[in-house]
Amino acid sequence: MKQEHEISGDGSVKIGGTDTITTPRLTNAALDDANPDSKVPPLSDVGSLPVFKYPFSFANKRVYAGGWSREVTIRELQIAKELAGVNMRLEAGGIRELHWHKAAEWSIMLYGGVRLTAIDAEGRSFVRDVFEGDLWYFPTGIPHSIQGLEPDGGEFLLVFDDGHFSEHETVLLSDIAAHIPREVMARNCGVEPKVLRKIFGQELFIFQAPVPGPLAEDQKKAAGTFGPSPCEFSFRPGEKSIVKKTKGGEARVVDSSTFKVSTTVAAAIVTVHPGGMRELHWHQNADEWQYYMNGKARMTVVGTGERARTMDFEAGDVGYIEKTLPHYIENTGDEDLRFLELFRSSRFEDLSLSEWLSHTPRELVMAHLNIDKATYDRIPREKLVVLPR
Ligand code: MN
Ligand code: MN
Repeated sequence: MKQEHEISGDGSVKIGGTDTITTPRLTNAALDDANPDSKVPPLSDVGSLPVFKYPFSFANKRVYAGGWSREVTIRELQIAKELAGVNMRLEAGGIRELHWHKAAEWSIMLYGGVRLTAIDAEGRSFVRDVFEGDLWYFPTGIPHSIQGLEPDGGEFLLVFDDGHFSEHETVLLSDIAAHIPREVMARNCGVEPKVLRKIFGQELFIFQAPVPGPLAEDQKKAAGTFGPSPCEFSFRPGEKSIVKKTKGGEARVVDSSTFKVSTTVAAAIVTVHPGGMRELHWHQNADEWQYYMNGKARMTVVGTGERARTMDFEAGDVGYIEKTLPHYIENTGDEDLRFLELFRSSRFEDLSLSEWLSHTPRELVMAHLNIDKATYDRIPREKLVVLPR
């Protein structure tokens, strides 16, 4: 990597043996070190592409007794039009209150366990416990709640199918209860107004409550006479996802072909071993919203009109690639790189550079790249997805 750059003792960098980059006199050294490809861009970078990285570390954290949350939307990352994300933590018993929203919600459990509740479009109840690695999806307008389980609650990433979404714009039970005239609320619930006098006067959003009881009991009570919903809002990717595995790692695709309810968000859960690389590719059908879960990576995005930029990523970072733009993701660390590729689409779609070149007349490709036949013949004939070291 970057043999063309020679770093001298004074911190200046020789490019191609002729020019030099001097170090800025005033700089944030910790950020520079975490972003080596911004500090010393590869010689192949050109022009200016809008920034396509936003670390959750920069996000505003809403802190409550019972948990916290922080979001990365189009307001934080301006090119992220199609999807927005929220990272949330609930302590044991902590509740993300009963609510719904205009966007659909896709989620992955990052740590611990939580209990989900919802009702389906026919009003039948859904109650499940989900744990690290599990997914869920709640369509537009479907009411739901999330509560941390013992022993230590849970942390998860929520992804919404609209970059303009904000967690501040959800319909909350506490908001409804606080702002419907008390006598109307009482009439609607079939009770005397005086029994509702302790209703809170403001939103709860996240609040602390006792840990929930046994799952089976909650399921039975919530199901009532309707019976439980036949609709599976949660999903365990280990069970029936399409996995593309190589020596370099794997890409586990979860879209509506297996996770039926997830009609507006498609995902690939990618692992790249040290030295491996998610091959050069693009997506025909949607922008890609990335979330880095482990390890270190670098990615170059090639834009139109002679623009290309390389940026570095690590756990907690969000990346974004506009539809059809070519990119690769290289593991630059010494541990497994794990990240999510998310799309506002019912299906995962990608095309790789190698499958393109290897299925185009040889002489045509040779003329473009100025390579000989032997070199052309070494290009992989199929999509490998994750290349080994
Ligand atoms: Mn929600
Ligand atoms: Mn991609």
